[in-house]
Parts: sequence; C-alpha cells; structure tokens
Amino acid sequence: MQTAPSNSNVVTGFPPVAKGQLSLGQSLVVSIHDVSTITRPVVERMLADLEGEGVPVTSLLVIPDHHHGGRIDQDPDFVSWMASCVKRGHESVLHGFYHLRPSTSGDGMATRLITRSYTAGEGEFYDLSFEEASRLLRLGKDALKACGIYSAGFIAPAWLLGREAARAVKEEGFEYTTLIGSIIDCREGRKFPSRSLVYSVRAPWRRSVSLLWNEMLFKRLKESPLMRLGLHPPDWEHPAIRSHILTLIRAATVDRRVTTYRDWLDLWRTSVHEGELPR
Ligand SMILES: [Zn+2]
Repeated sequence: MQTAPSNSNVVTGFPPVAKGQLSLGQSLVVSIHDVSTITRPVVERMLADLEGEGVPVTSLLVIPDHHHGGRIDQDPDFVSWMASCVKRGHESVLHGFYHLRPSTSGDGMATRLITRSYTAGEGEFYDLSFEEASRLLRLGKDALKACGIYSAGFIAPAWLLGREAARAVKEEGFEYTTLIGSIIDCREGRKFPSRSLVYSVRAPWRRSVSLLWNEMLFKRLKESPLMRLGLHPPDWEHPAIRSHILTLIRAATVDRRVTTYRDWLDLWRTSVHEGELPR
C-alpha cells in the first residue's frame, strides 16, 4: 500500500558489514504514534509501562495539531512534558500536521479503500502535491521549534507517503523516514528493509488477527538486526493487546539493545564501509 520515494539510489538488502567495522548487533525500536495534546495522558501511561519492561527510550511520533484539536505549541503542559521526555533520551519525530486527509469527492474506489477504510481517513501525506507537503512540513517544523524540539525524522500518518510528499521530506532536510516495511535514509538515499510490528484494534476481528499476525512476525524477525514495534494510544484500551505487547517486549529485550530510530540510523551509517556500498 505504501509508495516508496522515487530515489534511484535506493538500495535494498542488508548493508554489508565489513570486517573490523561496528556491527549492527540486534536492536529494538519502540515507537509511539499519534502523540499529541489529545493523547498525552495515555501516552504517559504507555511510557511508564514500557519503562517497567526495560524500554527507557522510544521514538515519539508527534502530531502538531491532532485533528485540529489543539496545537502542541499552545499547550504549556505538553511543551514541558515533551521537553522532559527528550531530556530522558526519547526521540521526537514529526508525524503529519493534522493527521487527517481531507476527503475529495473525486476520489476513485482504490483511493477510498486505502485512505478511508484502511487508515480511517488519516493518510494525510498519501497524495499531497510537493508544494502542499512542503508547506505542512514547514508548519510542523515551526510548531516543534516553538516547543524547543528538533526532529531528525518525519513519519507519515499510517505510513502512507506519496512520491511528491517523499520528495518534499528529503528537500526539507529530514534525515530519515519510515514506511511499514522499511527505513529510508534520506541523506544517503538508502533503504533498510524491516517490517514493523503494529496492531489494529478498531474491531474485535482486527484485534484477534493482530495477535496472531504479530506473534508470527515476532518469530520471523527473531534473527533480524532490527525489530520495530509501532504502538498507538488505542492499543492501551484493550488489555489483551497491551499485555501481548508487553510480553513481546519482555522477550525482545533479553538480547536486543533498546534504541530510537535516530540513534539506530547513526549506528547503521557507521557500521558499513562507504566505499563498499552499491550505488
Ligand atoms: Zn499516526
């Protein structure tokens, strides 16, 4: 469903790790999507639970004005809370601006299925023009800056990033973005394949499927250098989902280093020989 940025330099496959270079080892990145003035109370509970399971740092995906429900830079409590998170080592990542895609009457069936059914109409960066995407990215950066926060990364709502929007993300100087199946280094133009675990909780059948799917994916990723776990605030409304997430985290942290996307990217960049990268 996701549209990868059109970068001819994108390289797939695990990067070659040369002898004597830093090894990627095994890492775990837990990200919390949809952090905003609306979701802050539940995100605080999530962070406390995660910390109890050995996850002291996360990548926090911040929405500057969630569904037009309140700007982060006009909420002093949010600003000081976010600053304290960053001080403790959490990473802030820009995550759309409103997290809402204005629906268009001219949308075809495929677009309606992708942006409304699949994501409940939140694919804000799915089909924006380059100019509109750039405008929203700049507004987002300004809102974060007003909170005293810098974001190296941008992650599109529902991981739906169109080609023009992907170009805008690179032009606006973001270091990286992620899709559901990969991490893209915008500076180096490389792609690291890595499927994120994520739960869908909107309906009972989705929750049942999610538990089975993530159980299977977790086993499949056992040997992978990177395990990504994308959480959403509604996950915490369902005890079975919350408990499953915490159980997987307990198992993953036995032999994985907990890090953030930004720090993992730094590690990836230093773990390969520049000269050996296929271009
Ligand atoms: Zn989101």
